[in-house]
Amino acid sequence: MTHVFHRQIHADYPTAVAGDGCYIVDADGRRYLDASGGAAVSCLGHSDRHVIDAVVAQLQTLPFAHTGFFTNRPLERLADMLTTAAPGPLDHVYFVSGGSEAIEAALKMARQYFLEIGQPARSRLIARRQSYHGNTLGALATGGNQWRRAQFEPMLVDVSHIAPCYEYRDRAEGESLEDYGRRVADELEAEILRLGPETVAAFVAEPVVGATAGALAPVPGYFKRIREICDRYGVLLILDEVMCGMGRTGSLFAYEQEGIVPDLVTVAKGLGAGYQPIGATLVHDRLYDAFRDGTGFFQHGHTYMGHPAACAAAVAVQERLTESGMMPGVDLRSDQLFAALRDRFGGHPHVGDIRGRGLFIGLEFVADRATKAPFDPARGVGATLKKAAMAEGLMVYPMGGTIDGRRGDHCLIAPPFIISEAQVAELVDKLAAALDAVLPEAKA
Ligand code: PLP
Repeated sequence: MTHVFHRQIHADYPTAVAGDGCYIVDADGRRYLDASGGAAVSCLGHSDRHVIDAVVAQLQTLPFAHTGFFTNRPLERLADMLTTAAPGPLDHVYFVSGGSEAIEAALKMARQYFLEIGQPARSRLIARRQSYHGNTLGALATGGNQWRRAQFEPMLVDVSHIAPCYEYRDRAEGESLEDYGRRVADELEAEILRLGPETVAAFVAEPVVGATAGALAPVPGYFKRIREICDRYGVLLILDEVMCGMGRTGSLFAYEQEGIVPDLVTVAKGLGAGYQPIGATLVHDRLYDAFRDGTGFFQHGHTYMGHPAACAAAVAVQERLTESGMMPGVDLRSDQLFAALRDRFGGHPHVGDIRGRGLFIGLEFVADRATKAPFDPARGVGATLKKAAMAEGLMVYPMGGTIDGRRGDHCLIAPPFIISEAQVAELVDKLAAALDAVLPEAKA
């Protein structure tokens, strides 16, 4: 009997007692290769001395100083580092403690921005169907994930959801990538016009979709078109990089690869890399200036924002992520992992798609490769795979996919950037064994 009330209240989980590089060790001494970084969190593995020492040193000097009274050094340093690294004039950062809080801050900032510049009516939001932006009510309303939203629907603000960029399922036969990207991006324009441009505050999207669809990367030109449409109607572009940011896709920010500059960017997960809970919302100068020249006060805040130990962890993580070999290392391991996954599962009758960017890779499981028909949800392929993988000593993140608004079967692979070539092979072997256990009729 446990007194802990988690989401899965009946779950019988092993007790984690130690972290060792890419592995977590349980109380029975079993080692689990962390192929998902938890939920794309642990980009530096579980025993990075540089980060641990930075947190310990900070706790020994200043554990906490409320931001209503003080600033602190790691907070200022981290803001400098992030704004210097982020392409474009995103020169201001609002710190919070996680991804949902970062989204809430971005949504409220978008709303207040229009008040600051004297356009009181803009409060509507548009997001995409396959998306997850967090579990607090504003973030949940923004996400398009039906099974997560369903029972809370009466408590959620009204957000419009358009199609994501989901080439595997939605690109028509003979349609070029560019035409497809333009067609789905143009759904944004149609929805803005339907709602009335003067009412729409922001469009929210993950540059590479994570948990709801297993590493869906956009086709070339999609986000350029989205940016154009937002500019045409004065709609703010909020990019949610909580999962795909902080080097996961091979660049510190995922939007760098799209050749656009958003108005607001949310980051969390890899920002603290699991060593401390921290999130942040990066803000374009244009918005910051409106607040500065307006009321001078963003009507928001949390007790633990800018926590010194969390910021010290994130500063040390930034130092590691910006080491010269780190991003090329992500690219190298990404190539090796994609090659190994395609080699092993490319012909698997139930692996419909292997996709993603950098060390952010998704597998989509289907009942029939030719028709792309998903499995009967009652079979619970994703959830069973997670269990089977754990039995093999492997962590993958198989939950939450949605197809046409309902749950589908995906698995997200997002290992620490320090994964070795031998561990890439171990990952694929263990995943194959787990898949064989779940789908014995189709051994890889
Ligand atoms: N946004 C995205 C894209 C996410 O993947 C998540 C979490 O998985 C969140 C927001 C919410 O972050 P948190 O769980 O830290 O509140």
